[in-house]
Amino acid sequence: MASYDYKCSKCGKKFTVVMTISQHGTRKVHCPKCNSVKVSRQITGFFCQTSKKS
Ligand SMILES: [Zn+2]
Repeated sequence: MASYDYKCSKCGKKFTVVMTISQHGTRKVHCPKCNSVKVSRQITGFFCQTSKKS
């Protein structure tokens, strides 16, 4: 099991989902607040620089 941090792009709610690696590949993650599927994964645990400069 691993925990994944998400942020809802609709309402801005941040939440954590605990699931297995295989579940992470198949499972649709919903926002617990507004039930939107428009959630984005937050990278935590290690620092990942994507150097996204716009
Ligand atoms: Zn939401």
